[in-house]
Amino acid sequence: MAEYLERHRLAEQVAQRTAELREANQRLERLARHDPLTGLANRRQFDEIKEQEFRRAMRGGLPLAVLMCDVDFFKRYNDTYGHAHGDDCLRQVAHLLAQHFSGTGEVVARLGGEEFAVLLPGTNAEQARQAAERLRESLAQRRLPHTGSPISPWVTMSIGIAQFDVELASFDQLLQRADHALYRAKGAGRDRVGQWPG
Ligand code: GH3
Ligand code: MG
Ligand code: MG
Repeated sequence: MAEYLERHRLAEQVAQRTAELREANQRLERLARHDPLTGLANRRQFDEIKEQEFRRAMRGGLPLAVLMCDVDFFKRYNDTYGHAHGDDCLRQVAHLLAQHFSGTGEVVARLGGEEFAVLLPGTNAEQARQAAERLRESLAQRRLPHTGSPISPWVTMSIGIAQFDVELASFDQLLQRADHALYRAKGAGRDRVGQWPG
């Protein structure tokens, strides 16, 4: 009887430790794939998904749009309000992005700093432009104060869009195009949407 009880106790301990390990693994897995500040996908997860989506778009001929979003004059935001408030601002922007792009297959990632990428499978150029405009406008409507910004009393963002095309050599080339469109939106005055090739 004593031996039976001892074995039972050990089996319970093993089961508990196994459950704890599984939980710890899940936490680690989550940490490896998410940005701790915003909870969004991080660059690593984005890199995994982008390869899948790129192959899928190549096979299926379905449209695929990518948005590069960057907060305007964010360095000045930190300079004005401090880094901790800057973090709050990034969380709010991230939350807004997640609200806007929560559809099936849609991915929002924080690539670093105040820069976010959105992957929109099944979205053509016009739909992507409209979605980006809605996002830009809803950030403006939030009226998050940014007295350090020379272009607006509120926090704004610029967005670059590029569209999948079978001629592309890689997904990174698609990202470069979106980056280029973003760069042009910045150059044209910020708080606007730019589309590759422009
Ligand atoms: P632009 O309108 O051209 O995009 O100008 P910008 O000031 O937004 O861009 P810049 O690249 O000059 O500055 C980005 C700033 O973002 C600088 C850096 O201190 C800040 N930053 C990067 N990561 C974080 C973060 O995790 N938290 C906070 N609070 N700030 C960050
Ligand atoms: Mg910026
Ligand atoms: Mg930036």
